[in-house]
Amino acid sequence: MDVNEFRKRGKEIIDLMADYYENINTYPPLSAVERGYLSKLLPTEAPQKPESFEDLIKDFNGKILPGVTHWQSGNFFAWYSSTASFPSLLGDMLSGMINCVGFNWICSPACTELETIVLDWLAKAFGIDDGFLATRGDGSKGKGGGVIQGSASEAHIVVMLAAREKMLNRLREQGMSEEEVASASTRLIAYGSDQTHSSGQKASMVIGCKFFSIPSNEDMILTKENLEKQIEKDRKEGLIPFFVCGTFGTTNTCAIDDFVGIGEVAKKEDLWFHVDAAYAGCALVCPEYRHLIKGTEISDSFNVNPNKFLLVNFDFSALWVKNSRYLRDALSCDREYYRNDASDSGDVKDYRDWQLPLGRRFRSLKLWFVMRLYGIEGLQQHIQRAINLGNWFEKKLLEDGRFEIVTPVAFGLVVFRIKESALDLGNETTDPKAIFEHQNDINDKLLKVMLSDGRVFLSGSKVKGKAVVRAVFGGTNVNQETAETLLNVTLESTNRLLGSSDG
Ligand code: PLP
Repeated sequence: MDVNEFRKRGKEIIDLMADYYENINTYPPLSAVERGYLSKLLPTEAPQKPESFEDLIKDFNGKILPGVTHWQSGNFFAWYSSTASFPSLLGDMLSGMINCVGFNWICSPACTELETIVLDWLAKAFGIDDGFLATRGDGSKGKGGGVIQGSASEAHIVVMLAAREKMLNRLREQGMSEEEVASASTRLIAYGSDQTHSSGQKASMVIGCKFFSIPSNEDMILTKENLEKQIEKDRKEGLIPFFVCGTFGTTNTCAIDDFVGIGEVAKKEDLWFHVDAAYAGCALVCPEYRHLIKGTEISDSFNVNPNKFLLVNFDFSALWVKNSRYLRDALSCDREYYRNDASDSGDVKDYRDWQLPLGRRFRSLKLWFVMRLYGIEGLQQHIQRAINLGNWFEKKLLEDGRFEIVTPVAFGLVVFRIKESALDLGNETTDPKAIFEHQNDINDKLLKVMLSDGRVFLSGSKVKGKAVVRAVFGGTNVNQETAETLLNVTLESTNRLLGSSDG
């Protein structure tokens, strides 16, 4: 493909994308292909000779798109959203154009410096502690700053590694020999709650430490008391607590942990305090929600995924640390072939030391585009719209009378189920366990009936053993019309189910 053909085809692709987004809400959100469909449609070997662009696009439209689950559809309410936007997509295209591998500052100074600057912008827009800023309000350089990770899971791994290194260095400073430190490293234990995202456990698997999921309380949150109790027990058994994750907006129910309490324990017990605000953290762009992160001022690291709820295309996970030294202690691996004057001067950031891989994309461009072309006000409107739609849906379900809202509606997430009083239990069924199971069975079926309708896609879960349906209103193209479609599907599916369930 020469530059003239690129110019022509590029315009065609932009048209294809514009057509896709213009019609996005008309696609069935969930792909209906059978498992293994694609191997029946594609050859088993790559072509020897170049093929035509027309054939390629024909296959993209005819063979790939049918196998796509349309996350950008306004009828997609599953999991947490993945918010694409045109400004972000365009910024990402320019990142693809530059295609640098920005592991050191010298690899592309703009790639490093724009990242530092836009993550300071974002930290200020969220109102998180200014200890997370690379450059503080008075112009002084902080010890910390932001770095873009591919995912909240990677963020979890790198901060846990940093915390581990910090703890092991502390033990060395206290006079432990290398042999003793090696033995101590097998007794390290990290904490989250039973609602902490699986990435906490995965991080501990990667770094080779123990992870304990502390039972959440009836509000589904990690409390000071439960954390303290567990630490006391573990210390008695010779374990070494070193890390705790508090979540702002848990995956299941968007609950918010007791940050003030966790912070107090982390300080007293000398734990690294990580805040996972992957989805709900995006809502901090609206000042009215900032009181909810009280207590996180003393956290060591804070993570938000603008790709989940802030109109930045996947992948983009913003991680801030108060002291980048610990990341560098854990992740720096020098070689002669990385050396350059800028790095040797110590005046620049080399982000390879803040992440797992060496290479890194110019991801900051897409956030820069989004922040400049929406402005903070545009981002606030997006968040508020999702929250309002969630609240509207909750109101409609409650008005219907057959549903219960299982956990408080938060940041556009509605967790609901058909309530017991709406079920036909027959005359004899009084056993609470049988009723509980029956209600779970009905709600599992509700999700299946809703999905088989095909107009919407959403996911289910279990909350304290209760089968629930989750609807997330955060997506870029979710609007009043698609929210009404979801309501219609919910009510019609419930009619079908309760009409036919007959106890
Ligand atoms: N943390 C929370 C609270 C989440 O809800 C999720 C995913 O939804 C994650 C972490 C993992 O996100 P990622 O896919 O960026 O690793």
